[in-house]
Amino acid sequence: MKLLRHGPAGQEKPGALDADGQARDLSLLVADFTPDWLAPEKLQALAAIDLARMPLVPKGTRFGTPVAGTRQFIAIGLNYRKHALEAGMEIPKEPVIFSKAITSLSGPDDDVTLPPGAETGDWEIELGLVIGSTARQVAVDRALEHVAGYCLANDVSERDWQTKRGGTWSKGKSFDGFGPIGPWLVTPDELEGLQGIPLELQVNGQVRQRSSTADMIFSVAEIVSHLSQFMTLLPGDVVITGTPEGVGLGTKPEPVFLQRGDVMTLSAGPLGTQRQRVI
Ligand code: ZN
Repeated sequence: MKLLRHGPAGQEKPGALDADGQARDLSLLVADFTPDWLAPEKLQALAAIDLARMPLVPKGTRFGTPVAGTRQFIAIGLNYRKHALEAGMEIPKEPVIFSKAITSLSGPDDDVTLPPGAETGDWEIELGLVIGSTARQVAVDRALEHVAGYCLANDVSERDWQTKRGGTWSKGKSFDGFGPIGPWLVTPDELEGLQGIPLELQVNGQVRQRSSTADMIFSVAEIVSHLSQFMTLLPGDVVITGTPEGVGLGTKPEPVFLQRGDVMTLSAGPLGTQRQRVI
């Protein structure tokens, strides 16, 4: 399934994409996609719904984050070799982790606000995942059993806040709207080739990032297992898995940062597309 949430911010209703790619409303059957709905047996129940009989969501309706009630938002740094090099960092021996505030989560096409003083905004297209069942010290070969689904993400960053404000990276990763995810959550049964998903990000129509999850240093299974050695991952938690090369900070000869009025467009094959205006 491709699960989504539609409607104005704070008033989203659950829905799903039908076989023709049209959004259908599920609010008659489900109150919202809260963490309890991400358990395997609940997802199976959702998959049994005949979407063709559910009301269509009007075209042009806003999408929100595909899940509600997220309690942790964790990110992986430097998980693509060429990105680590462009950032002037060593290839990590273990996954680098940091947190993003859950209040940074936003819909896939919501505006990204750079507040006054944020002059080094940057983009990072990433594969995201949402945890479906509690994961605590899980082995690599069992790790993906704890994933409810996958989504596109933009790890919007403020580089000066990230690196020049006394640590940690979270300072530059957490402003409201710095975490667009969606437009939908693709359940694992619908996603072939987890480590071969194309990723492309454009700014004002110019390609800045073009890569694939095949280039990750640590696989998705390794990331989930690794995180779960140090913290308990809860249903609804969002993990984003690192960005490939081509961020503004790494642009040569001079870094390029987001300007108000810029438009970021992101695409990731079956995970869909995002479009954010910078304001
Ligand atoms: Zn990132």
